[in-house]
Amino acid sequence: MSKETKEYDVIIIGAGPGGMTAAVYASRANLNTLVLDRGPYGGQMNNTDAIDNYPGFLEIKGPDLADKMHETATKFDAEFAYGDVQSVELDGNMKVVKTDTAEYKAPVVIIATGADHRKLGVPGEEEYSGRGVSYCAVCDAAFFKDEDVAVIGGGDSAIEEGNYLSQMAKSVTDIHRRDKLRAQPSLQKRAFANPKMSFVWDANTTAIVGDGQKVTGVEYIDKDTGEKKEVKAAGVFIYVGVVPQTAAFKNLGILDEKGWIPTDENMHTKVPGIFALGDVRQKNLRQIANAVGDGSIAGQEAYNYIQDLNDK
Ligand code: NAP
Repeated sequence: MSKETKEYDVIIIGAGPGGMTAAVYASRANLNTLVLDRGPYGGQMNNTDAIDNYPGFLEIKGPDLADKMHETATKFDAEFAYGDVQSVELDGNMKVVKTDTAEYKAPVVIIATGADHRKLGVPGEEEYSGRGVSYCAVCDAAFFKDEDVAVIGGGDSAIEEGNYLSQMAKSVTDIHRRDKLRAQPSLQKRAFANPKMSFVWDANTTAIVGDGQKVTGVEYIDKDTGEKKEVKAAGVFIYVGVVPQTAAFKNLGILDEKGWIPTDENMHTKVPGIFALGDVRQKNLRQIANAVGDGSIAGQEAYNYIQDLNDK
């Protein structure tokens, strides 16, 4: 049975902060706008407890900020729908977006699919995933009330989530491969002052170990001595960076060698009418605030692009 193809002016793939902001700008410019996501709107904000670096809010829960952005986008009639996008194909000036269940067409596609947690790739990681290994403190911290947990990584995510975990866990040990954190100074300051947090420096994690049922610890090599050591932990939270969610866009020839999407400062990719924004872009700083900035530009550029097409 062939699928019915619904037409829009703009299709935004990804309903994180950048995608929802693009939806605000596009729909406010009277463009018929569809936002597709394979999960609930909000993206990574849903896995963030407290956000304290988004202007206008001294501190706000991630899901609450997601609700406010969704409210703003729907106020201007942007439509939100479920859709796990499998591919985007070109058909003249139109782009055909195929999801697992439907097909859509528009002259503009905005890719706002963001990034996902990178796997550490050590023995035990997959085996104990969901049985002590986690990539989301907000989702899983409650399972480790009064237990010892470990966090792997030294970036913003590891340190922010380590601080969060310490509210429930008995202790949080951060295992980092260097002797300096990459995280923002304000997060570092909080972590160093946190009596429940401690650090294992210069440590290469080699395995997540367990009793066959659940995690019991993290094995690592002390880089100074070459010794193999273990941190006892009932839970291990892995935050070793992010990878772009761009598998569905390989055919378009718009990805760099690592899978990120380069754009110009107006969010244009190499393909006219296809824009990218937020964490999925090739960029240095991945924050809600700059995803929102990208989104405003992409929404406006979508309008300009459609105007140009209509003027031809
Ligand atoms: P990240 O900044 O790339 O940091 C990854 C951390 O994992 C680094 O400390 C890195 O070590 C370590 N690492 C990488 N590969 C490893 C491996 N194979 N084994 C052990 N350790 C490894 O990633 P992130 O913390 O997930 O942050 C992603 C982006 O989101 C960043 O742009 C970040 O600023 C942003 N973010 C912002 C906030 C906020 O503003 N509140 C919160 C969360 C995330 P090295 O330091 O040695 O490279």
